[in-house]
Amino acid sequence: MNATQPPRGWPGVGAQLAGRLARLDLRGPRDVLLHLPLRYEDETRLTPIARLRPGFPAQVEGEVLGSEVVLRPRRQLVARIADDSGTLVARWLNFYPSQQKLLAPGGRVRLFGEARGGFFGLEMVHPRLRAVAPGEALPDALTPVYPTTAGVGQITLRKLVAQALQSEPLDELLPAAWLHRLGLPGFAEALHALHHPAPDADPFALEQREHPAWQRMKFEELLVQQLSLRRAWLARRAQAAVALPARALLTAALLESLPFRPTGAQARVGAEIAADLAAPHPMQRLLQGDVGSGKTLVAALAMLQAAENGWQAAMMAPTEILAEQHWKKLSAWLEPLGIGVAWLSGSRRKRAREAELARLASGEVLLAVGTHALIEDPVTLPRLALVVVDEQHRFGVRQRLALREKGEGGRRPHMLMMSATPIPRTLAMTHYADLDVSVLDELPPGRTPIRTRLVSDVRRDEVVARVRAACLEGRQAYWVCPLIEESEALQLQTAQDTFATLVEALPELRVGLVHGRLRNEEKSATMAAFSAGALDLLVATTVIEVGVDVPNASLMVIEHAERFGLAQLHQLRGRVGRGTAESVCILIYAQPLSQTGRERLKVIYENIDGFAIAREDLRIRGPGEFVGARQSGVPLLRYADLELDAGLAEPARELAEHLLAHDPAAANALMRRWLGGREALLRA
Ligand code: ADP
Ligand code: MG
Repeated sequence: MNATQPPRGWPGVGAQLAGRLARLDLRGPRDVLLHLPLRYEDETRLTPIARLRPGFPAQVEGEVLGSEVVLRPRRQLVARIADDSGTLVARWLNFYPSQQKLLAPGGRVRLFGEARGGFFGLEMVHPRLRAVAPGEALPDALTPVYPTTAGVGQITLRKLVAQALQSEPLDELLPAAWLHRLGLPGFAEALHALHHPAPDADPFALEQREHPAWQRMKFEELLVQQLSLRRAWLARRAQAAVALPARALLTAALLESLPFRPTGAQARVGAEIAADLAAPHPMQRLLQGDVGSGKTLVAALAMLQAAENGWQAAMMAPTEILAEQHWKKLSAWLEPLGIGVAWLSGSRRKRAREAELARLASGEVLLAVGTHALIEDPVTLPRLALVVVDEQHRFGVRQRLALREKGEGGRRPHMLMMSATPIPRTLAMTHYADLDVSVLDELPPGRTPIRTRLVSDVRRDEVVARVRAACLEGRQAYWVCPLIEESEALQLQTAQDTFATLVEALPELRVGLVHGRLRNEEKSATMAAFSAGALDLLVATTVIEVGVDVPNASLMVIEHAERFGLAQLHQLRGRVGRGTAESVCILIYAQPLSQTGRERLKVIYENIDGFAIAREDLRIRGPGEFVGARQSGVPLLRYADLELDAGLAEPARELAEHLLAHDPAAANALMRRWLGGREALLRA
């Protein structure tokens, strides 16, 4: 992944060892300094054999009574060791002749390991073994245990660390005032404390990484991450883009023609985006807004700002259904204003597609909506100045970048990325800190809150009756089929079975079915029928998860809700509650519930706010899984933990700003120290 040079002049490290160390991302003494221990072992004390407690690591010293290689139940080296208090059996399943030699009767050894009760009394399996002279002093510091890889022993790592602590400058790169304010020790002090903890250091605090020395290193790591993200942000500001000043021609006309007024949040975010677009460098903005907060209008206004300047804008959506819905909505809004919208998707016939392509390529049509078909080769948008990516988390980094490349003449288009999966602030700060973030934190007025019901699947009939009653009153309902992650075929089968059962159970209703395997025209016809009210009940797989907007639908049923993720449940539930009728979401679950399944259902039942749900999701799943595919090039955190160390993240961000403005040399030195030649290549 990185093309760093092999280390030059790393004393005592030959080519073979260097190769192995490189696997740990250690390419020189400076890297070794920051290779911090995983945990510590207390070899400063000896435990009398009689006082060993099963399950606790401890060190004993004694005389070898005897040792032998036994062959049953499998080949192993077995030794008996005695001290004044008792005797202990030690076993090694893999061993070297050198170890056998150390275990000659009469030898003095120290063993470090976990004792457990064995058939012949207490024993240690695979203890660490060392020969000692009688009366040899004990180490006066806790022994660090480093992360390692095959062929690199702890002793080697310790030696390299000791060398590096001698040879490397341990310059303090953080301002003293900040350290003082945050109560953090200096760099050299922290490194010594971690690599050579004092004998009286609290091993528990060290292991839990709460020790001030750990806090210092985590803070510096977070700081470097912020520095590289800020740098990327500044680099983007240095690029050229088309300035699209707000002319309030088409945008004003659209607002005029709508039957509603923008919410306060839409107006605020719209103004932020309008100001970004007017600048001659590319916007890179993430618009977060909960399900139903009205992101599409904000996007439409941005696209119109491009059009009223004579430039093109393209909006990409992750599913056919959603792209088509956007196209219809934008056309309905914009065609009366004389603005054409091209629609590109795999479902369009070749002739229609080619006509659209020609109109876009000639610049006759300024706005385009589509699926990833937009980034396919023959599409040219010669005057592309704005790219909108809806439900951006559904796209890979590469797809988002590909659309950006559709612009011509070396100009970067402005980018607006939209997401209804809110990212908690701590995560946004580290994963998207190179983006500007806008939040739509207000729902359009007149919505009645969605009521959520949890129903065991033994009461499925009652749910069916409820669907019947609602639809006979003129409402519409979704029925989401169980998610079957292991098999798409099975998932399809289940959807078809569910559809058949519901058709039979509800003869008085008009029931439709959509799933991912339908031909695009069929999908689109079914969605159109549901939208137009020609279907009462739509049985669906998760193809309707994102974006679908049918305001008259007010009942959502999700079967086997315990199988869905929190973000997914929140998205699905957001398909209702879009009109004025009171909406209900019924989550049918099957017993027995797993611990996480139960926890998730509780969260979704108790919370309606997407940000609160995302925070809970983060708590249940942890940040790694939460973000999924990482943003390209964001330096990984090795030590800091976004949740646990959230308190350090904010000051790290402030200090990053401060250093970039007032001490760029220190900023550079910090980035060199932590990233070396691996300087993060931030692109997105
Ligand atoms: P999302 O943020 O989930 O993409 P949409 O853009 O689909 O939300 O908007 C949800 C619904 O709210 C749509 O039917 C849209 O036309 C409507 N809407 C958007 N803004 C407003 C507003 N200010 N007042 C009333 N309805 C609005
Ligand atoms: Mg949307």
